[in-house]
Amino acid sequence: MTIAERLAEIQGRIQNAREKSLYGQEVTLLAVSKGHDGAAIETALTAGHRVFAENRVQEANGKFPALREKYPGLSLHLIGPLQTNKVKEAVALFDVIHSVDRASLAEKLAVEMEKQNRRLPCFIQVNTGEETQKAGVLPKDLPGLLRLCRDQKLNVIGLMCIPPVNETPSVHFAFLKKLADEHNLPQLSMGMSGDFETAVRFGATHVRVGSAIFGERDYSGATSPL
Ligand SMILES: *Cc1c(COP(=O)(O)O)cnc(C)c1O
Repeated sequence: MTIAERLAEIQGRIQNAREKSLYGQEVTLLAVSKGHDGAAIETALTAGHRVFAENRVQEANGKFPALREKYPGLSLHLIGPLQTNKVKEAVALFDVIHSVDRASLAEKLAVEMEKQNRRLPCFIQVNTGEETQKAGVLPKDLPGLLRLCRDQKLNVIGLMCIPPVNETPSVHFAFLKKLADEHNLPQLSMGMSGDFETAVRFGATHVRVGSAIFGERDYSGATSPL
């Protein structure tokens, strides 16, 4: 299948999953283009797709400024961990941030957004599996971080999670949905190539799909998984 055919097929599967969802939510397909070059991204753009996601600021900065010039309406989401020394670059480049996970980052983002006069919608990443190696705020620390974000006037629209690889994802999706409801957050960023239909059934509004659209990634270069 071509990239255009895969995009169409995945959109169809998202619609089917939406019909089984209890929530009837709108779902945005984020095409995760990390590990793929500008030519692959341009194939998706030519097919009419406009919403992309990358997990590294530097890699995204090497590919997207040129594409933005050529394809108006392109929207770029950051889904990977953000170091505070990359905040300035990230605020200038991305349209949505999915990986706010600590107070120091939230404060830096708020200051930089004010400076650049770009108030990007943000998701807070929750470490639902409480894995030590994984980014994300622990569920017990979410209320405090949310309070701080609101004090800083950060535009938090929802929650994001990456379930542990060896656990049933639906348990984590249901948990994230419950946390979002408790805090009146309408958006949920969850679901990847292997589980996006399940995520939609559990209320995802943003699914992050990479390999099912672009094929396997090449990790011989600087790009690392997650
Ligand atoms: C790479 C990545 C994805 C996409 O993964 P696939 O399995 O290729 O669909 C989704 N979310 C995050 C945070 C990622 O880093």
